[in-house]
Amino acid sequence: MKSHAKVVVIGGGVVGASVLYHLTKAGWKDVLLIERAELTSGSTWHAAGGMHTVNGDPNVAKLQQYTIELYKEIEAVSGQSCGVHITGGLMLAGTRERLDWLKMAKARGRYLGMDLEIISVDEAAKLFPLMEKKHFTGAMYDPIEGHVDPYGVTHAYAKSAQIGGAEIVRHTRVTDLKPRPDGSWDVITDHGNVQAEHVVNAAGLWAREVGRMVGIELPILAMEHQYLITGDMPELVGKPEQLHAIDFEGEIYIRQERGGMLMGTYERAGVAWSPVTTPWDFGQDLLANDLERIAPSLEVGFAHFPSLERAGIRKVVNGPFTFAPDGNPLIGPIKGLKNFWVACGVMAGFSQGGGVGLALSRWMVDGDPGADVWGMDVARYGDWTTLAYTNAKVRENYSRRFSIRFPNEELPAARPLRTTPIYERLAAEHAVFGDYCGLEHALWFAPTEAEAVDQVSFRRSNAHPHIARECTTVRDHVGLLEISNYGKFDVQGPAAAEWLSKIMANRIPSVGRIALSPMLNDRGKLIGDFTLCRIAADHFFLVGTYAAETYYLRWFERHLPPTGVWVRPCAMQYVGLSVAGPKSRALLQSLVRDDLTTGSFPFMSFKRMEVGMIPAYVGRVSFTGELGYEMWVTTEYQRALYDLLVRAGLEHGLRSFGGRALNALRIEKSFGTWAREYRPIYGPFEAGLGRFVDLKKGDFIGRAAAAEEKDSGGALRLVGFKVDATDADAIGDEPIWHEGKVVGWVTSGTFGHRVGASLALGYVPGAVAAAESGFEIEIIGERHRATRLAVPPYDAGGALMRG
Ligand SMILES: Cc1cc2nc3c(=O)[nH]c(=O)nc-3n(C[C@H](O)[C@H](O)[C@H](O)COP(=O)(O)OP(=O)(O)OC[C@H]3O[C@@H](n4cnc5c(N)ncnc54)[C@H](O)[C@@H]3O)c2cc1C
Repeated sequence: MKSHAKVVVIGGGVVGASVLYHLTKAGWKDVLLIERAELTSGSTWHAAGGMHTVNGDPNVAKLQQYTIELYKEIEAVSGQSCGVHITGGLMLAGTRERLDWLKMAKARGRYLGMDLEIISVDEAAKLFPLMEKKHFTGAMYDPIEGHVDPYGVTHAYAKSAQIGGAEIVRHTRVTDLKPRPDGSWDVITDHGNVQAEHVVNAAGLWAREVGRMVGIELPILAMEHQYLITGDMPELVGKPEQLHAIDFEGEIYIRQERGGMLMGTYERAGVAWSPVTTPWDFGQDLLANDLERIAPSLEVGFAHFPSLERAGIRKVVNGPFTFAPDGNPLIGPIKGLKNFWVACGVMAGFSQGGGVGLALSRWMVDGDPGADVWGMDVARYGDWTTLAYTNAKVRENYSRRFSIRFPNEELPAARPLRTTPIYERLAAEHAVFGDYCGLEHALWFAPTEAEAVDQVSFRRSNAHPHIARECTTVRDHVGLLEISNYGKFDVQGPAAAEWLSKIMANRIPSVGRIALSPMLNDRGKLIGDFTLCRIAADHFFLVGTYAAETYYLRWFERHLPPTGVWVRPCAMQYVGLSVAGPKSRALLQSLVRDDLTTGSFPFMSFKRMEVGMIPAYVGRVSFTGELGYEMWVTTEYQRALYDLLVRAGLEHGLRSFGGRALNALRIEKSFGTWAREYRPIYGPFEAGLGRFVDLKKGDFIGRAAAAEEKDSGGALRLVGFKVDATDADAIGDEPIWHEGKVVGWVTSGTFGHRVGASLALGYVPGAVAAAESGFEIEIIGERHRATRLAVPPYDAGGALMRG
């Protein structure tokens, strides 16, 4: 084994092999993969090898498409067959909701260029005669589904990488990792050491253990997973290979395996494997079968596909593979560790392995993944993902692998975990809570405890009239909202202003003022949107998205000067409350000595005040589009502040409102939000944030690209629509049609209660963005006329919030 390498990839499963190949393809030749046994010695060797393009996150779906298309390439480069069988696939619906879900998946596939089709039960049965029609209501057909040979794929990647210059060392275990002062690593193995500039943890079933070598606890857990292979079936003799099928009601997938069928289950009573430590002596081993555990799924499967039962079970495979709490991969660099990368938690290696390898290699070589990988970024998790949290969430996710997740559905596992001091107060107001980064936050308020439950639906739900009341309270009186679930950063130091000016696109506000600013990457794309509040010449309070806290910190860390600036994430050390509505000023004025008139404390002001007895930072700003104030206090004051506002608010008609109302209110103002309208695939001018980009202030990250985008206008444009929808509003990811063609996609949608209309925001090509008419938005399979809104539908001029 060589003693130096630019990169050491730990792990020769399908993911490590793909990363290795992609690194060589990107031009890094001095790359070494270390595998403790033979290639595929983790979860890879016993995988069922199934692959498909459909994924809940369109960006992950794109990477899945890429993976499947890649097999031809690695076969050609390596000469190694991947055993690709493209059979086509059916997703079978047994309920109306599932058919709705399939229609939405098909609609999303339209703008991803996927050739999906909704077909009747009769048509499905023609394609897949093994199904018993009476159990189904319809199906979606995907021509690009099939299966591969896990051994073949892994070796094809590995050989292609070797041809590209990579080295692979087998039967060598990495036992420790030691950072060097220059940012490189000593990779300690049982067969000598290697000094590596970069290390990639692609250790699959042992990724957690490799993470622990560098002091991190990765939120992944292996689950036992069983599939069975039936005896040979006369129904298959002389026929073309059967399609892949997913039967959602049975939580099962099926495909042909030689003369029989392979059937796997994601059973409700899933069992974690090695929940704390993965044994190093586990290799190409299988776990003991437990047919009892999967019996309920098998029963449904045998009823839905009777010929499988007749064929009998020839073989059962039970093997472990890893999941992150949301079931998506964990990739990227780790905050606080130089040149340490992860590519793990990949639960669908044969659909996702190629995309993971591509994104990670680009990130390492170019400094940017080259695609929107937020849904897979390891930085989406933080301190709250403890071992026990991960265990609860992964088990929940596994058992729901084929369950519908409704847009208004909150999942129960690992809750409540994080609560703010007013949690009980909000519960007493019959709040229905949501879980955001493990933190409970109020979504909406019901009139009684009995009504405080979400009836899950793709359509307007039981919460609709209550959210309407919250929105009109904000419009006509004053609403109270908890805003603790934002990311807050305390930035201080003599070089703070200069540094912020370099990483933020807008000009830095003067003392006592607030500025909104996009944060751009080097390619001029949006990687954050912040509220910059200036407390003093050398002191700022930043508010951004809490889910992106680690993601932001990783970027900050990369760009911080050695001295002169200190950034402290506040997490829940600062919590907040906001009052919004025409009576918010009168309410707050009754509690503070400071003059709140617009002349003294205008829109976008920020000041430390005493609210009653409570020291608070108060900003004159509101995401609702109404006159409003945000108050930030250290945690121990929040309850007192809440009580004070509620008491004083009585005479102003104050009522609480929640996150769902806020979403509706901000869409009525066409205000975008991170991970919806603002993502690293959009530029600031495309996103309508051009007025927050100050190209004259001097250099900042992404400036050149932003200037270019300004000149060219960018390829896309964020547009608001009023939709002629009746009982279901857009929620995001619906296709936008223009004159009979799909031209874009919705990023957010809602019913706008202040304006009494169904609304959507979405991206379309710049060329059609100005079209007066001809737009339609497809909601649950139905196209609805959509009117492009030249200005936000509510208070377009902003007089209310400035007033
Ligand atoms: C029963 C079953 C069925 C499945 N069916 C499918 C399917 O149909 N489709 C699909 O896409 N996916 C399927 N999967 C999941 C798929 O197997 C995984 O997504 C994939 O194997 C993950 O690959 P990996 O490279 O991340 O991890 P692994 O395959 O676990 O590879 C990790 C490698 O790292 C090595 N390693 C670990 N630590 C060290 C160390 N310290 N030093 C050196 N080497 C080390 C290990 O020996 C191992 O070879 C299935 C899994 C199971 C168990």
